[in-house]
Amino acid sequence: MPGGIYVHFPFCFSKCDYCSFYSVSNADSSDLNRYYEALLRDIEYSASLYSGKSFDTVYFGGGTPLSMGIALLKKISDKIFSSFRIESGYEFTVECNPSSTSIDDFKMLFDFGCSRVSVGVQSLDEKINKFLGRKYVPPDNVIKLLNCSILDISADIIAGVSNIDRESVLSSIDILSETNADHISVYMLSVEEGTPLYSRFTDSDKYDLEQKNIFQSVINRLKDKSYAHYEVSNFARNGKVSRHNMKYWTWQDYLGLGAASHSFIDGRRWHKEDDFRSYSLNPSNVIYDERSAASAVAEYIMTGLRLADGISIDNMKRIFGEAIPPSFFERLRSAADSGRIEIKSGDVISAFNNIYFLNDTIYYLTENLI
Ligand code: SF4
Repeated sequence: MPGGIYVHFPFCFSKCDYCSFYSVSNADSSDLNRYYEALLRDIEYSASLYSGKSFDTVYFGGGTPLSMGIALLKKISDKIFSSFRIESGYEFTVECNPSSTSIDDFKMLFDFGCSRVSVGVQSLDEKINKFLGRKYVPPDNVIKLLNCSILDISADIIAGVSNIDRESVLSSIDILSETNADHISVYMLSVEEGTPLYSRFTDSDKYDLEQKNIFQSVINRLKDKSYAHYEVSNFARNGKVSRHNMKYWTWQDYLGLGAASHSFIDGRRWHKEDDFRSYSLNPSNVIYDERSAASAVAEYIMTGLRLADGISIDNMKRIFGEAIPPSFFERLRSAADSGRIEIKSGDVISAFNNIYFLNDTIYYLTENLI
């Protein structure tokens, strides 16, 4: 199976108040140039290790990749395509922020091989953007971007923002569904400690219940608009699932390049240093993430059950063999008997029938493995 290549760009033009990802907004041009040079060394070194391997997805994520500037992104892309074996018919996604992206940027991305953009819309509502501490872009400008027909379009939105009417999220979905966005990711607002939003946020049990209700309305509305709910947070129409992200959920290989990137190849996991300056000094340095065989089984269950299609127990047995303890099968039977999971055709199990208890179900099935 071909793998995926992920390149991380930990830079943003400004920091959103809810963001807990590692990204910096104060890098100067010499930082960016050093990072660019380090990425080229990383690509060369990694390509020498995986010269026999082929890849069919490339993903530039962040952060905001375009904060590097189109010219550097093009050189990085060229270096990847000349160094690795990339299969024809590949998917090449670049994450974009609508406040710093134009149609001309999309054309230039297309010209150097990009096939898909993932646009962080988050909301078309001015008051939600303000609440999130995010630069507001008028809906007409966002719609213009999302109607671009030369690239496949994915749009991210945030739902479940406290004290704000769910009609606003549903109206964003209605508008997005009229554009070329064949893929929509919906993330429930998660208020992380240490972010500016956390310090001004009040939570309550009522809010939890409200989040579930809002998410159910979102699922229903997207289904009405012909988007298939294929992963907990992801919806696609016309079969336009994220081929790159599917690799994370279906135990396929992916190679991470850049600071804070993660890799999973031939059953081994590792990551690069988070700090972009440390990374730039030694881009080939990796930190191995050693796990027991049992915790690898747990990981497989955790990621696979996020998919509507669920996981195949026969596949699990083929991959992990004896590492799956008998107690797992006992719990599996009990989870099926109590309706927490559904046994689909053959040996496939899915927890989508009980999506709001997914975390509890995963915990129950993996408790003895971690
Ligand atoms: S643009 Fe994205 S990565 Fe950057 S600060 Fe905002 S949410 Fe975080």
